[in-house]
Amino acid sequence: MGGCRSAEELVKSQIENPKSKIAERYSRQILFTGIGAEGQQRLIDSRALIIGCGALGSAQAEALARAGVGRLRLVDRDFVETSNLQRQTMFTESDAAERMPKAIAAANHIREFNSEIETEPEIVDVNNSNIERLIEDCDVVLDGTDNFATRYLINDACVKHQVNWIYGAAVGSYGVTMTIRPHQTACLRCVFEEAPPAASAPTCDTAGVIMPIINVVAAVQVSEAMKLLTERTEELHQSLMQFDVWRNEWRKINPGPPAIDCPTCGLGRFDTLKSTAGNIEAVLCGRNAIQISPSVPARVDFQSLAERLRGVGEVKVNDYLLRFRTGEYELTVFQDARSIIRGTNEMNTARSLYAKYIGN
Ligand SMILES: [Zn+2]
Repeated sequence: MGGCRSAEELVKSQIENPKSKIAERYSRQILFTGIGAEGQQRLIDSRALIIGCGALGSAQAEALARAGVGRLRLVDRDFVETSNLQRQTMFTESDAAERMPKAIAAANHIREFNSEIETEPEIVDVNNSNIERLIEDCDVVLDGTDNFATRYLINDACVKHQVNWIYGAAVGSYGVTMTIRPHQTACLRCVFEEAPPAASAPTCDTAGVIMPIINVVAAVQVSEAMKLLTERTEELHQSLMQFDVWRNEWRKINPGPPAIDCPTCGLGRFDTLKSTAGNIEAVLCGRNAIQISPSVPARVDFQSLAERLRGVGEVKVNDYLLRFRTGEYELTVFQDARSIIRGTNEMNTARSLYAKYIGN
């Protein structure tokens, strides 16, 4: 027989050989000279952190998972709702009906199209108590958040620990992105020293957002992540990129070098990482909802909480959250006792509902 093997045997040996499985799955990407076999192996050996699995984050997660980034840490505080489905292409109607946490839903869908990579979903609100743990061992961080407070937190943690991160935002038909390599490029604080004052800038909840701009921003962020992970840094776009897919404007602005007087990368002050006392409350913009994160995270026993609440309202429980409806309010409680209280924008109302039903 010599070297003459049947086609069937050849296919069988390829399927059994993990190397050739990789070669087959990623063949088009390996053919691309920017990546090649060596670049593909680097992607497989990497871990990326995606903070926020909404529109941008779920697009980033899907692209990086398909590209074969070996480990994806997916962090999100929220659950899927019907109004997400117009642009958050990772999720389905059944995710919305079941109120699946976005991090879990994203990990489940990734498993269906690439079971060879590892996902590490985390249902948490990113804040100063966990950001440094979350970025640990990550080769790159992608911004999928919708607010400046979290972005400054990411910027502080990434500059402090020398982790590259990729800022991205989209609202209406407009988007912006910048790649930050601590001490080599300007950081977010060099470019935007202060967040735009609350209510001055349009948000997705006041100005809406269309899916194409999400795909443009996420595509540039993912390309930059691939260049960083494959060590092709000479190909980075090195700018603040702005796009408007409705007004047909595309711009590149030079952010300059790291600023000597930048509080973060110049002076090494990481103000947002300092601890705060008490519960952390946040108005969830445009959603008629408030989030309360207890200062000391607890482990909620859903069954006993459900029993307590059944007498006063409607209760539904899945593996990740408990939903409780009473009158015009809906409380969603996560395992760490963080809660999203829907039906009010009043902090005091939310606090008293939390104290009354969850206890604190
Ligand atoms: Zn800076």
